[in-house]
Amino acid sequence: MAKVVKFGGSSLASAEQFEKVGSIIRAEGDRRFVVPSAPGKRYKEDTKVTDMLYACYDLAEHGKDFSKALADIKARYDEIISGLKLNMSLDEEFKVIEKDFKKKAGKDYAASRGEFLNGIVMAEYLGFEFVDAATVIFFADDGTFDAEKTQAILSKRLENMDNAVVPGFYGSYADGRVKTFSRGGSDITGSIVAKAIHADVYENWTDTSGFLIADPRIIDRPQKIETITYRELRELAYMGASVFHEDAIFPVRQEGIPINIRNTNDPGNSGTWIVGSTGQKAKYTITGIAGKKGFCSVNIEKDMMNSEVGFGRKVLQAFEENNISFEHLPSGIDTMTVFVHQDEFIDKEQKVVSAIQRMAKPDTIDIESDLALIAVVGRGMRSMRGTAARIFSALAHSHINIKMIDQGSSEMNIIIGVANEDFENAIRAIYNIFVETCL
Ligand code: ASP
Repeated sequence: MAKVVKFGGSSLASAEQFEKVGSIIRAEGDRRFVVPSAPGKRYKEDTKVTDMLYACYDLAEHGKDFSKALADIKARYDEIISGLKLNMSLDEEFKVIEKDFKKKAGKDYAASRGEFLNGIVMAEYLGFEFVDAATVIFFADDGTFDAEKTQAILSKRLENMDNAVVPGFYGSYADGRVKTFSRGGSDITGSIVAKAIHADVYENWTDTSGFLIADPRIIDRPQKIETITYRELRELAYMGASVFHEDAIFPVRQEGIPINIRNTNDPGNSGTWIVGSTGQKAKYTITGIAGKKGFCSVNIEKDMMNSEVGFGRKVLQAFEENNISFEHLPSGIDTMTVFVHQDEFIDKEQKVVSAIQRMAKPDTIDIESDLALIAVVGRGMRSMRGTAARIFSALAHSHINIKMIDQGSSEMNIIIGVANEDFENAIRAIYNIFVETCL
C-alpha cells in the first residue's frame, strides 16, 4: 500500500501545524510520499508565504531594496525550524534566492521557493528524502504540463524509494527554468505524484473536513458530502465550489485513484471521498449545490425559427467572432437564449447584437442582466422522479421566479437561472427541500 499525502498551506503555517502533520504521517506507514504547500496563513489577517514572495520579487524586479521583505520570509521558516527544534538552517538557500532575485530569475521561480523551502524543512523533520520538483515535473515550451515526460522521469525516480517529500506547485521547462501551476497548484502536484507511484489513495489534507453540500456562507453549517464522483465534482467546481484545484482531478482520474479530502485539524473525521464511480447511494437525492452570480441572457426570437436550418450556428457565430464563450443555451420553438458571463459580454454587447441582426435576422433580441446560475448536482437524480418538480415548488414557495432551467443530458445536473438578488434564497430553498426536510 502507498498513499500520497498533500498538505495545504494552512496545515503547514506554523511549527504547531507541522507537528499535527507529523503525527498524521507517522500514524500510518502507508503515507510514504508527501507533497507540501508553502506555509499559509496562521490567522485570518496573516499573509501566505507565496504572496510574500510575489511581493518581494516585485520589489526586486523594479530594482528596489527587497532585503527586509526577504528577511520577513526567512523569519517565517526560522520560526518553524526553531519551533520544531530542528538542527538545520536555510541560510545558504536564502543566499542563492537573494542572488537569483537580483538576477531577475522570474516570478514563477520566486513563487516556487515557498514550496521548495518548505519541502526541505519537511524532509528534515520527517527524515524523508527531498526530491526537488524542478527535476521531476516538466512543462512543455508552450507552458502546458508535460504529462508524458513527467510520468516517465518521476515514476522512475520514486520507484525504489520508501518515502520522499516532493514540493508542490512547480516544475521546470526543458531548459531548467522554473514554472509554476496556477494558484493552489500543489493539489495538481499531489495528483501527479499519486499517478506516478500508482498510489492506492491520494489524501489531500486541508482545513475543512471535506466538501460541504452547499456554501457555508449561505447555509448555516451545511452537511458534508461523504462520497462524490469525479464528474459530480467537476460540475460543482465549475460552478464555483472550491476546496480542491479543478485540474488536479485529471491525473488520478486516469488511474482510478480515489482522493480523500481530510482535515489536518480534525484527523478523526473521514472527510470526503472523490471516486470514479460508486454503487454507494448518496444520502440525499442531490450531492451538492453550487452557483455563480453575474450572467446575462440574450433572448432571440424569430417566427418559424424551428424550420430555419443554420439559425443556431449564425447566432453562435456572432458570439464566437467577438471571442465570447457561452454557458448555456436553452431553446424553444421560436426562441433561443444564450447565457454569457456579464463581465465578458457587457463591453461587446452592441457588437454582438448587430452581428446577430446581420447574420441571423431575428424578429427581436432582448438582453437581461444580473442573473445567477445555480447547479443542482447529483448522481442520485437519474433514478429519482420528481427532482425538477421539487426544485420548482421549493422556489415557488420562496417566491422566486425561475428564469431558466436546463437539464444536462447526463441527468446528473440541473441548472437554474434566477435573478442575482434571489441567488442566496434560492440556494437555501433547494437545500431545505432536499436536505433539511428530507425523510
Ligand atoms: N502556495 C501556492 C498558492 O498559494 C500553491 C498551493 O498552495 O497550492 O497558491
